[in-house]
Amino acid sequence: MNLSYSTEEAAFAQETRAWLVEHLETPPAFTSLDDEVAWGRRWQAKLAADRWVGIHWPTEYGGRGASPVQVAIYNMEYARARAPQPVNRVGVNNVGPTLLAFGTDDQKRRWVPPILDASEIWCQLFSEPGAGSDLAALSTRATPVDGGWLLNGQKVWTSYAQWSRWGICLARTDPDAPQHRGISYLVVDMEADGIETRPLVQLTGEAEFNEVFFDDVFVPEDHLIGGLHQGWSVASTTLSHERGTIFAFKEQVVHEVFLDELYALAHERGLLDDVATSDGLAQSFVETRVLRLHNTRTLSRLAKGIEPGPETSWIKLAWTDMTQSLSTRAVDLCGEAAPLWRGAHELPADGKWQRQWLWSKAASIAGGTSEIQKNIVAERILGLPRG
Ligand SMILES: Cc1cc2nc3c(=O)[nH]c(=O)nc-3n(C[C@H](O)[C@H](O)[C@H](O)COP(=O)(O)OP(=O)(O)OC[C@H]3O[C@@H](n4cnc5c(N)ncnc54)[C@H](O)[C@@H]3O)c2cc1C
Repeated sequence: MNLSYSTEEAAFAQETRAWLVEHLETPPAFTSLDDEVAWGRRWQAKLAADRWVGIHWPTEYGGRGASPVQVAIYNMEYARARAPQPVNRVGVNNVGPTLLAFGTDDQKRRWVPPILDASEIWCQLFSEPGAGSDLAALSTRATPVDGGWLLNGQKVWTSYAQWSRWGICLARTDPDAPQHRGISYLVVDMEADGIETRPLVQLTGEAEFNEVFFDDVFVPEDHLIGGLHQGWSVASTTLSHERGTIFAFKEQVVHEVFLDELYALAHERGLLDDVATSDGLAQSFVETRVLRLHNTRTLSRLAKGIEPGPETSWIKLAWTDMTQSLSTRAVDLCGEAAPLWRGAHELPADGKWQRQWLWSKAASIAGGTSEIQKNIVAERILGLPRG
């Protein structure tokens, strides 16, 4: 295993860092998610103008044709600079790579470039009230009509639907076929007649995800991605990008930065000599180091051209445990201020740790629950029989 960057990789890390030092702005204190999204669009447009979004995409579609190792390096530098997440996350992480793999030339030309500068935000219309982990059980129907389909049904947990121009949607086009074979992958115009989006308020009090209802929504035939009834294999590509290992590089550095902030908070509160506090911080240090070692191994594999496999589930589990325990420790360190919320008097980091703790609960659900990841580890890594 080679633990050091090549000369070219070191130069690329330096180029990324230099750009961020020159261009990064500190986000203001937002009073609403609408403000945060509007600011995020401007920040992403700035990144895209210099080709710092979707850097592994082909140059003809606005990327840099970067290698997987460069993508990992970019993610680590981005997190180290504490740069805010691109607002069009679903577009960049899930939709773009799927369109590039399965879209027609027209579809790529139409939809890919505005993903990068966030001029068109995307959402992912996959989960339903009766289909989450068991996604193939989905029941949203797309019935053929002249020139396309009529969509009827309901989706849930759709992040950013209320700001989205387009959605990638899985719908049943052949109700008589076996579950995985009767599904198609459609692009839905989120401004079309018959769509109703109802925000869901989360633990944090914010409403980032939604229920989305379809009532005879017309989807034109050139909005089909991949073949008719072939949606399951297209969706597998989308999900492999969502669940891939690259997110772990950013998360490793984000949590190393968090840990530095927690040492400072413990010091400020005179708790560094407290045994329970120092034990907890040491445990979080070990867990972030474990993630770093997983990432080093992934980097080494990517450099040899080896595609990530089922170990992505293992890495997601390690990240989930690490982020949830670190976030709990952070709130513990807030002491008597732990139950307070943003804006309260003398609240450490104005409630950042409380929000982080609430958000960390999503880690064991989003992108495949921990139980599902454990099933994958059991069956595909340990070779245990299917339950
Ligand atoms: C922050 C966040 C953002 C999200 N954004 C989106 C989005 O933009 N678009 C979208 O489509 N979806 C989104 N989701 C939904 C997410 O994909 C689902 O929540 C997830 O797939 C789990 O499905 P479910 O909630 O229906 O739970 P279920 O699948 O009903 O699971 C309920 C419980 O049963 C367990 N379970 C289920 N099956 C098994 C099994 N075979 N073996 C063992 N245990 C099992 C689960 O682990 C879980 O504990 C988001 C979720 C979160 C938390």
